[in-house]
Amino acid sequence: MKSNQFITQLFALIFAVLLFVVIIKNYNVLGTYYKNSGKNVSSDDHYQLDVPKNTTVKSESKKNKKKEKKLTKHEKLILSYQKADAYSIVDANSLSKKDIQKLFTISKISDDTFKRMKGKSYKDNCTIPKSNLRYIRLLHNDGHNNTRIGELVVNKSIAKTIRTIFLDLYEHQYPIEKMVLVDEYNADDNASMADNNSSSFNYRVVEGSNKLSKHSLGLAIDINPKYNPYIHTLNGKTVCSPENGAEYADRTKSFDYKIDEKDYSYQLFTKYGFTWGGNWNSVKDYQHYEHN
Ligand SMILES: [Zn+2]
Repeated sequence: MKSNQFITQLFALIFAVLLFVVIIKNYNVLGTYYKNSGKNVSSDDHYQLDVPKNTTVKSESKKNKKKEKKLTKHEKLILSYQKADAYSIVDANSLSKKDIQKLFTISKISDDTFKRMKGKSYKDNCTIPKSNLRYIRLLHNDGHNNTRIGELVVNKSIAKTIRTIFLDLYEHQYPIEKMVLVDEYNADDNASMADNNSSSFNYRVVEGSNKLSKHSLGLAIDINPKYNPYIHTLNGKTVCSPENGAEYADRTKSFDYKIDEKDYSYQLFTKYGFTWGGNWNSVKDYQHYEHN
């Protein structure tokens, strides 16, 4: 009977061990189940009890909130200037040197900008790929004590030079009355000139000829055109473009926005390899600088 008793005790022990193993195993399986189901359904009560909420997502959104909060009133102001339409007025007194740098930007032609240009300055027969053009945003003094946002489309080969020149002009408070894309005038150069709007890219021929203008390549820029008109001969007659610039055709007179060889824009553009239309012999294009 002693051996019988031993066998019974042994079985009891084995049963106890087996029971213990089964309990432990089930506990793990259940734990895993709760964890997995919790990942998929965040509102699961078991998940919420067993595993803490996804802390990564929470801390990231907290970080973003912190970033948003970190933007100061001033940074928000600069951001609004970066997004504002050209010709908007800017509070120049609030701008540091760093801010000014941030407001002189060169970018590729975005879809939004191209929408403005297509069928206007960028005509259907345009041979220059838009990848060769750049959109520049800048600041300029309008000559009436306002700092305004300006915009230009130029050839990418001169984009950096143009940025440098206009940053310099701005620092010298050189007056440029208006600088928006010629597309705002349906790419009508006469309308843009009459409004004294300074511009560059426009796929067009030279007025009164079949020759493609340097503006077609974004390699020419017209500054304050109303006060610096284009004087040429058409059918034996002297023509002034724009018409409302006729009183400024006499270059012996002195007036605001006038470009001559003493003018700071002349000094800068010629320094960077541009020629001035006022130095031409056949015609006089006082508003015009072009890169060769
Ligand atoms: Zn021109």
